[in-house]
This record gives sequence, C-alpha cells and structure tokens, in this order.
Amino acid sequence: AKRVGKGVVRLFDESMDEGVRVRRGIEGGLKQAIDRGELSLEFQPIVSRDRIEVVGFEALVRWNTSDFGPISPSTFIPIAEESNLIHELGDWVLANALTELAAWPGQYVSVNFSPRQFRRTNFVGHITQAVLAAGIEPSQLQIEITETAIFDDSDRAAETLYKLRQMGFRIALDDFGTGYSSLYNIRKFALDSLKIDRSFIDGMGRERESAAIVHSIIHLGRALGLEIIAEGVETEAQVQALRIAGASHLQGFYFSHPVPADVARDMAVARFAT
Ligand code: C2E
Ligand code: CA
Ligand code: CA
Ligand code: CA
Repeated sequence: AKRVGKGVVRLFDESMDEGVRVRRGIEGGLKQAIDRGELSLEFQPIVSRDRIEVVGFEALVRWNTSDFGPISPSTFIPIAEESNLIHELGDWVLANALTELAAWPGQYVSVNFSPRQFRRTNFVGHITQAVLAAGIEPSQLQIEITETAIFDDSDRAAETLYKLRQMGFRIALDDFGTGYSSLYNIRKFALDSLKIDRSFIDGMGRERESAAIVHSIIHLGRALGLEIIAEGVETEAQVQALRIAGASHLQGFYFSHPVPADVARDMAVARFAT
C-alpha cells in the first residue's frame, strides 16, 4: 500500500503533469495544423442598426484536429499566445481572411490580433504588406485588439494605432468593458469602434448594472465619435433595447452564427428583417 504522504505528493505531481501534457500536445498539434490543412475560418456578419445591412464580417479561426475533433479558439489561442506560434497562426488567419474578402468587395473583414501580435516589431509594415499582397484597400480591414494590448505600453500603442489609422485601416477595441480601461483613458487612442463585450449585453435584461454600463458606453462612445458594436446579440428584445440605447452596429447569433466563407458570401448582399 502506498503511504498517504507520498500519495498526496504524487497526485499533485500528476495533475501538474496533465496540464503540461495537454498544453504540449496542443502546442505540438498546432505547429502542424497549418501544414495539415486543419485550420479554417468562419465569418460572422456585423450589421448596421438602421438599415440592417451587413457592413462587415468578423473572421474567427477554427481548428479541426484529426485526432480529437474541433478544439475551441478560447482553448488554443491563449496557448499559441504564450509561444511564438501566435505569429504563424495569425499570419495564416490574416492572409486567408483577406483572400476571402477580395472575392466579395463591399464589406470590411474584422480580424482579431492578440496582444503579442500587436506588439510585434513593425506591426504596421507587416499588416500593410498583407493588404498589398491581397490587393485590397486598408479601409477593408478592421483590426480588433483588446485593452490588454494597448495599456501596458500605452505610448507606443497609441503611436502604432495612429499610424495604422493614418494608413486607412479601421480599428476596433474588442471586449470593451472587461479590462481596466475607462472611456476617459481611451481618448488618446485612434479608434473607429468599440465592441461592447457580450457579458454586458447578456446581462442587460436582468441586471440594472449591465444596462447602465451599456447605456454609458454607448453615450460616451458616441460623444467621442466612435461606432458602437454590440457583441453577442441573441434576442429580439436585445435588438430593440440596443436600438433605443443608440448602438450603431449589432453582431450575434440573433442575426447569424459564424459561418463558412461561401455562406457568408451570400449573406453579404442580404438584409436582415427585424
Ligand atoms: P471574440 O473576439 O470576442 O469573438 C466573439 C466570440 O463570441 C466568438 O467565439 C463567437 O463565435 C462568439 N459569439 C458571437 N455571437 C455570439 C452570440 O450571440 N452568443 C454567444 N454566446 N457567442 C457569440 P469563438 O469563435 O469561439 O472565439 C472565441 C475567442 O477566440 C474570440 O473572442 C477571440 O478572442 C479568439 N479568436 C478567435 N479567432 C481568432 C483569431 O483568428 N485570432 C485571434 N488572435 N484570436 C481569435
Ligand atoms: Ca473579436
Ligand atoms: Ca469580443
Ligand atoms: Ca471575448
């Protein structure tokens, strides 16, 4: 029989091992995912509040592993972000999103960039190259970054955003409201839109606090001349409440789940009746 003390130690070690093993496994698999053709993109429409027309699509990466089936980006993006893999993965996403977009002009494509990608040396040159290679206008790419990407080295981030905006790229601050930023300290960043995090939209109908936060983000964001994209819109009631509150754009399952490129292409010309 094993001694209790030893058993406790071993149990602890084993659970540590498992976490590390899973991480290594994902890291290893991800390294080969591109070559094996296991990555793909889905696109989710972003619609304007007034005319309910599709103004753009957010590109979302998908990984269908041959061994374990689909793995969520919420699982593998943070692991890629901890290593240099995020760069290769991000380059793949950007190039493929832009290629799809070139085939159906008229809308922008909104691409997620992790903090590490954004802080990469010569990020601006890198993005510019990609857009030139795809033969599209900078205004057809919206760069989505989170508060974490810009608050650590905020002077440098402000300069990068300024340059990007000068070149004509669109810039969106993603998951807004979940980080440390306030509307007061985002003034210095060149932005086009704020994406209100899904958690606040979700809470709107239930808690007065969420509704109040949504209202103040919309109110002050508009005063700063920003577009306001509400994320995670799932119900008719949310659509109506957000319209009244003055959100300029809506995105969520109510309109469409993320879909493959060929389905998105048909949606590009559709109007959503509400
Ligand atoms: P995110 O950027 O906040 O993307 C929105 C997430 O919410 C997506 O999850 C989308 O499928 C989901 N969603 C959209 N509408 C609704 C709705 O009405 N209800 C609910 N419950 N969910 C909705 P997904 O595709 O699983 O992506 C998760 C996260 O992974 C993204 O969050 C983003 O942070 C990251 N991610 C995805 N693709 C990329 C990528 O290409 N590059 C990077 N760096 N990160 C990515
Ligand atoms: Ca996003
Ligand atoms: Ca988001
Ligand atoms: Ca999110």
